[in-house]
Amino acid sequence: MKISVIGSGYVGSVTAACFAEVGHEVICVDIDKKKMDQINAGIPPIYEEGLGELLQKYAGKSLTATTDYEFAIKNTNISFICVGTPSAEDGSIDLSIVRAATASVGAVLAKKEGYHVVVVKSTVVPETTEKFVLPILEETSGKVAGKDFGVAMNPEFLREGKAVYDFMHPDKIVVGAIDQKSGDLVSELYRTFKCEVTRTGVSTAEMIKYANNSLLATKISFANEIGNICKRLNVDTYEVMKAVGKDSRISPKFLNSGAGFGGSCFPKDVKALIGKAKEIGYSPALLESVIGVNEKQPILMTEILQKKIGSLAGKKVAVLGLAFKNDTDDIRESRSIPVIAELLRLEAEVSAYDPMATENMKRIFPTIEYCGKAKDALEGADACLVMTEWDEFKQLDSEFEVMKEKIVVDGRRVIKAKNIDYEGLCW
Ligand code: NAD
Repeated sequence: MKISVIGSGYVGSVTAACFAEVGHEVICVDIDKKKMDQINAGIPPIYEEGLGELLQKYAGKSLTATTDYEFAIKNTNISFICVGTPSAEDGSIDLSIVRAATASVGAVLAKKEGYHVVVVKSTVVPETTEKFVLPILEETSGKVAGKDFGVAMNPEFLREGKAVYDFMHPDKIVVGAIDQKSGDLVSELYRTFKCEVTRTGVSTAEMIKYANNSLLATKISFANEIGNICKRLNVDTYEVMKAVGKDSRISPKFLNSGAGFGGSCFPKDVKALIGKAKEIGYSPALLESVIGVNEKQPILMTEILQKKIGSLAGKKVAVLGLAFKNDTDDIRESRSIPVIAELLRLEAEVSAYDPMATENMKRIFPTIEYCGKAKDALEGADACLVMTEWDEFKQLDSEFEVMKEKIVVDGRRVIKAKNIDYEGLCW
């Protein structure tokens, strides 16, 4: 099939490359020309394991990239909208990018002959596809949904860092559609996947994504709450949660306590669902607590440090890990951001190291020291905070010798070194 993918960020570029891998012809569309040039040259616009290989294989052949909506939509039968859906200031969903992308698609549909299905893959709150995207498409195209064009919603569940693997080996594929024809066409794209397609209405598909992410975020905040209680009782919360996770009703995943969840999805999606719930007259107390626990968690790191070494003013603190999790360069909502901001507020000197995310973090904190190796960040430091569960941090040992004081507060339980003054965030 011929597919256009609108938006070439984490989701769009992976979706495009993976659809090419299963034999479809794909055209990427983005307003960022640099990203389009990179994709055409076989260079991934973001770091994602396996993405470079796929782009090398298909760029310039079954995968092309352009900023020209008209070219893309006229030469394809299905368009996937994969643009960002950030939080507005009050936490609710900001649909301005979806509005712009949808209007651009609609403007081409107005001139296009033949049937075309528009699929929302961006994470959008329930009712968005039906009451926001569909009317914009009808208005800008002058055509009728369900008759002249189809509309569907196909949420994405990939994890950054494992995005290509997850796209190719999904636990579930959800296709919500306004009618049978739209849903059939989208489901057909996934025919070769070894995963059943769950067919729903569009609002149900939207809600499945939010329920999914909210439950995972809730598990993490729950583990952190238990961890904070465990710490005061001198009980090892990892031992507790390992046993809890053996219960087949629970699963051991997402039960590690620590500095909390970040990333482009969990915080924003939980907040967006809170915003939608309030809009329709429901007060989601549990979801608000999930965010509340998550916001307090990183600040506990600096509180522990202050208890150990007193005032942080003028002290050098090494921050190991800037990405919101391992195996990605993404720093969106990374828990290291509030920690570094707090360290700077307390007038500490910060030296930071991350294997991949340094360049991204420079845009937020341009003045702190960035180092090329963990050891360089630790050199002469009064203390170290560990913020990301990178595998390489598990090997750190003699590197801590160069610190002035070998005080390490670990927000992810990764450090295995002996001979250091070690304290876990909540264990
Ligand atoms: P992103 O910010 O990495 O990428 C969005 C892309 O859209 C950018 O390349 C941007 O230049 C482009 N864009 C902006 N305006 C445009 C326009 N008018 N026309 C065409 N392109 C435009 O975002 P992302 O992380 O890929 O997320 C996209 C959506 O997928 C969001 O709704 C997100 O919640 C959801 N999602 C993300 C993940 C994830 O792990 N990142 C996982 C599942 C779902």
